Amino acid sequence: MRVCCTIAKEVPPAAAHKAAAAPQFEEQQQQEQEQEYGSRVINFAAGPAILPANVIKKAQSELYNWRGSGMSIMEMSHRGKEFLSVIQQAEADLRDLLKIPENYEVLFLQGGATTQFSAIPLNLCTSDDTADFIVTGSWGDKAFKEAQKYCKGKVVWTGKAEKYSSIPNQSELNVTVGAKYLHICANETIHGVEYKDYPSTGNDTLLVADMSSNFCSKPVDVSKFGLIYAGAQKNIGPAGVTIVIVRKDLIGKAQPSTPIMMDYKIHSENRSLYNTPPCFAIYMCGLVFGDLLSQGGLEAIERKNVEKAELLYDAIDASEGFYKCPVEKNVRSLMNVPFTMATPEMEAQFIKEASAQGMVQLKGHRSVGGIRASIYNAMPRAGVERLVAHMKAFQARHI
Ligand code: PMP
Repeated sequence: MRVCCTIAKEVPPAAAHKAAAAPQFEEQQQQEQEQEYGSRVINFAAGPAILPANVIKKAQSELYNWRGSGMSIMEMSHRGKEFLSVIQQAEADLRDLLKIPENYEVLFLQGGATTQFSAIPLNLCTSDDTADFIVTGSWGDKAFKEAQKYCKGKVVWTGKAEKYSSIPNQSELNVTVGAKYLHICANETIHGVEYKDYPSTGNDTLLVADMSSNFCSKPVDVSKFGLIYAGAQKNIGPAGVTIVIVRKDLIGKAQPSTPIMMDYKIHSENRSLYNTPPCFAIYMCGLVFGDLLSQGGLEAIERKNVEKAELLYDAIDASEGFYKCPVEKNVRSLMNVPFTMATPEMEAQFIKEASAQGMVQLKGHRSVGGIRASIYNAMPRAGVERLVAHMKAFQARHI
């Protein structure tokens, strides 16, 4: 049975169970949840975030003695045959999921997506090259500010004046002729805006995307990009590993001052094992990739994500303004759903009551306030249904 689908709407988390006088069928479901989920909450965190329950359980079952090796993954050499099999399988499964062409390298790195804000210009540009940035939220802005140190960064579009609620059309873009790359943040985790179609760059300008918060949430045509990068800790694993997918011909041209740990050539030549990699995080990502494949791959995952997001956005739109989502409808994120209510006090009450029902981490990012429900791949539909039920009940009590 797939564990992640066993949260039932009728089943409150452990703390709330005790008070509920449940009818028989609910009791049975509660028992099932206890068995499958124990005291786990419904976690709407933006990252680190919910992981598939069956993956956590698999890791738990293998933790003490990984597949008869007599060691945990955390204790074994990163150069031993056991770990090599783990990292190779993780890469093979990721290639399978995203249909990554042969002429792209997959690197498992450290330092978070933030390190890539500097590594990308250092590897792709000379200090005289221009890199264009479309800034659709805080992460794109951070990427631009960091890149400026290593090349000529240029913002070609920013949504700041509209509080990052939209994404430009191709016609609104004035990409610099000769720019080395155009950087986008495919999904702005804080503001909840997500590209549905990617911009075309023209000429030889590469498209570079930060996919940290929607990585593996839907199919992507990798061949459109020069480079894709993602911190793992939202959709595919624990914090500690950052994935870079980079076209092979772009490797080997790093600026001379590039720190060795940021040079893609070093990591590519050493198959991500130049130094000690984040072994456990890579292992966990590998389990998640296997789980995504067993669910039918990214087409199937996207369908589920669309359904979950529709449930939530429909509830917001049907609330007649009680809940408001600031993002333009055509670019609303499938992963991070921000919404607001009439007053911060009401939002605080909503979050408090949700928490009492086991729905946690719903507070919007400290820079924007409001509410944000992150509904990554591993969030079961029933978790979103519970949130929607709370929204409806809360509204009924406050109008
Ligand atoms: N880009 C995006 C879209 C993010 O959501 C985040 C983290 N929230 C980052 C970059 C930074 O990632 P890290 O903390 O792994 O450096």
